[in-house]
Amino acid sequence: MLAKIKHLAETLNPRLIEIRRHLHAHPELSGQEYQTAAYVAGVLSSCGLQVKEEVGKTGVIGQLPGTGKDPRIIALRTDMDALPIQEKTHLEYASSKAGVMHACGHDVHTTVGLGVAMLLSQLPEAELGKVRFLFQPAEEIAQGASWMIKDGAMQDVQAIFGMHVFPSIPARSVGIRYGSLTAAADDLEICIQGESGHGARPHEAIDAIWIAAQIMTTLQQAISRTQNPLRPLVLTIGQISGGRAPNVIADSCRMTGTVRSLHPETHANLPRWIEGIVANICQTYQAKYEINYRRGVPSVQNDTNLTKILEEASRESWDKEQVQILTEPSLGAEDFSLYLEQAPGSMFRLGVGRSGVENYPLHHPQFQVDESCIITGVVTLSYALYKYFQQNL
Ligand SMILES: [Zn+2]
Ligand SMILES: [Zn+2]
Repeated sequence: MLAKIKHLAETLNPRLIEIRRHLHAHPELSGQEYQTAAYVAGVLSSCGLQVKEEVGKTGVIGQLPGTGKDPRIIALRTDMDALPIQEKTHLEYASSKAGVMHACGHDVHTTVGLGVAMLLSQLPEAELGKVRFLFQPAEEIAQGASWMIKDGAMQDVQAIFGMHVFPSIPARSVGIRYGSLTAAADDLEICIQGESGHGARPHEAIDAIWIAAQIMTTLQQAISRTQNPLRPLVLTIGQISGGRAPNVIADSCRMTGTVRSLHPETHANLPRWIEGIVANICQTYQAKYEINYRRGVPSVQNDTNLTKILEEASRESWDKEQVQILTEPSLGAEDFSLYLEQAPGSMFRLGVGRSGVENYPLHHPQFQVDESCIITGVVTLSYALYKYFQQNL
């Protein structure tokens, strides 16, 4: 079966490169993936999949019906949106839209998803169950997954796979990760209310800026003294504002930040932990406070069995050095984690690094991929899906 999959992927490859270049030249921002969605729906229908559009606003679902013998549904998620970045690659198929660019490789993801759909639809002898392809909008604003789930995209799904391109892994290689892959990312806003006064008479005022500084310093120190060092936590205050004049004590100060964590228990306790510190400091100096803690996406926790299927599929498909077992997660965030609240899943990193040249990071205006990554992604995922259905119920 693997030889057949590889052969089919080779045959499809020129068409897939064409698709990817078309998508790359026509990027669309989060929630506005109208042309991309129509294009994806067209390709899916032409391979005989059942297609549903406008799932999660601009999302598309294509379902491979399977043989009917196996009732299981397994999902493959790929995201479709681009970023508000002016492309500077000078490729002949560079973005045709000013200020919009596929700088996170979602054009590759969409192409790989279509490639797997095209390949499996030409492989009736694989006797698969149902494969549901989720083409998700608005990943960059961490909204698309929840839109699609709300519209029933995960209904009856037993397991889900996903992937993301990764420029620091060479093309033709994959990075498999057991356990946590990405972090939970929450937004934090703290507003301190003090009392204004003359800059020379601090004892008659409540200095909101100084109290904010105490809070910021204590939060950083408290991470090192009260949080388990084996469970990473990053708290970044990226914005602070307060005060009106150099000689007037500020009556209010506002800070906003991002809070990244990997362990579900750490994540669960964060609002209480932060409020404890803020409340104590404010009480000591008689200030008032308001905290807005907004939960973002949770951490991606890869399921062991499904990760094992991905690893085995990769090991059988590729040489030893092409399969990396990743020892570290990243503190980036990914809304794939929301699907994992509905069903177990696993996401891997698809190597796209080009050899002999500088590889720019994701979200960089000069980000580029080695297009051989497409066939690697298509074979790995097609074979992993096949292997999944080979496993007994
Ligand atoms: Zn991105
Ligand atoms: Zn991305």
